[in-house]
Amino acid sequence: GSDRKARSQSPSYLTFDDIGGQHRAKNELKEALDFLIKHEEIKKLGIRPLKGILLTGPPGTGKTLMAKAAAHYTNSVFMAASGSEFVEMYVGVGASRIRDMFKEARTRAVKENKESAIIFIDEIDVIGGKRDGGQHREYDQTLNQLLTEMDGIHTADSPRVLIMAATNRKEMLDSALLRPGRFDRHIEVDLPDKKGRLHILNIHAKNKPLAADAQLESIAEETFHFSGAQLESVMNEAAIYAMRDETPFIEQRHLSQAVDKVMMGEKTDRESTK
Ligand code: ATP
Repeated sequence: GSDRKARSQSPSYLTFDDIGGQHRAKNELKEALDFLIKHEEIKKLGIRPLKGILLTGPPGTGKTLMAKAAAHYTNSVFMAASGSEFVEMYVGVGASRIRDMFKEARTRAVKENKESAIIFIDEIDVIGGKRDGGQHREYDQTLNQLLTEMDGIHTADSPRVLIMAATNRKEMLDSALLRPGRFDRHIEVDLPDKKGRLHILNIHAKNKPLAADAQLESIAEETFHFSGAQLESVMNEAAIYAMRDETPFIEQRHLSQAVDKVMMGEKTDRESTK
């Protein structure tokens, strides 16, 4: 599962500085996370504890990065799962997997001497889709278990648990998930604007030798509607073109070729799914 993958990744932490663009989303997220950090004050004022944050937006815009940075920012242990992992699980297995995940989050937090844990669930729409008229009920137990666990989170609890979930289909979510005390904070993680794209290109150019003629600025200009994930691909593909050319530096033409390649790749993907 992706939680295992996330655990073995190194270095084990990622900060908000590693995320390009997304200023508004980062600020909104930090503001929300302060509720987790300042839990004593929150409790004294009788404010409801923050239990869930929903990240919405197109694929590849950095939602997973946001969750990882959130864990570092709040000094929490990080665990991750994807809604798609629950597909084709036998009835009851999904629910017990959710139960185990919460248990493990608390155990790990205690073991690692941390006050909180963040559980990230990508593709939440797979288990949290609308429960309309008895259709698609195969994930009901899984969703119910998630809601039960979230209802069981109290401020006094130590370690505290925060659920972050991501979806690119918010309108599909069951309203039970969006009720106060559940995922009541929503943060939009949109496609980056030109400035954001340049920031992301710079982040992914850090460990790459760029030629003097390389103009990331013009690449940012050309890549309207690209996601962060696609921009990361552009930098990677450009390096591959440089290697094929046997040049020690990544030149502007390699970058341009890479933009075309990533753009074409998207087109053929779309064509084949038509
Ligand atoms: P999905 O919804 O498809 O799971 P996501 O929004 O969770 O996507 P991530 O998994 O966070 O996207 O991003 C995928 C990869 O794309 C990252 O590992 C990173 O290399 C790159 N990337 C995406 N967004 C950004 C960003 N804002 N800054 C830097 N890199 C980014």
